[in-house]
Amino acid sequence: MRCPNPDCTAVDTNVVDSRPAEEGGAVRRRRECKACGRRFTTFERIERAERLMVIKRDGSRVAFDGERVLAGIQQACSKRPIEAAIMERIATLVEDELHRRFAREVDSAEIGRSVAVKLREVDPVAYIRYASVYYAFRSVEDFAAEITALQERPPVGDHPTLFGEGKPKS
Ligand SMILES: [Zn+2]
Repeated sequence: MRCPNPDCTAVDTNVVDSRPAEEGGAVRRRRECKACGRRFTTFERIERAERLMVIKRDGSRVAFDGERVLAGIQQACSKRPIEAAIMERIATLVEDELHRRFAREVDSAEIGRSVAVKLREVDPVAYIRYASVYYAFRSVEDFAAEITALQERPPVGDHPTLFGEGKPKS
């Protein structure tokens, strides 16, 4: 790693500290130039050279777009008491999960399911809104069954990581 000091540009560095960052998705390293002593930070992340393709309901394929996932979440959460940071957090979790589970292609219904499961924990209204559009209930009966299930089993605790590792589990 070349030293960022323009008067130096040596390539030999010592790693003086190394720790997980971005919730384990990256490694943060503090480096020190062996020549001039300048310290700087680098991040190591998994390369996603191959873009994940989404298979839409009509069979066509589009590149996975995290912004579209977030837009769908924001739409479902419209006028609900949900912080923007929570919506972004859900979108990030969904994107990470999909990249972990699917190497090249993912069915659009899987994306819907992944978002819906997380929204269910956050807000029942946002969840039903989202589910009715993206989760593709096939009939009114399916929809009614989901609402009944939601009432019977309060949506808590499936994803303790949703709000960060620091929060104690209840
Ligand atoms: Zn240097």
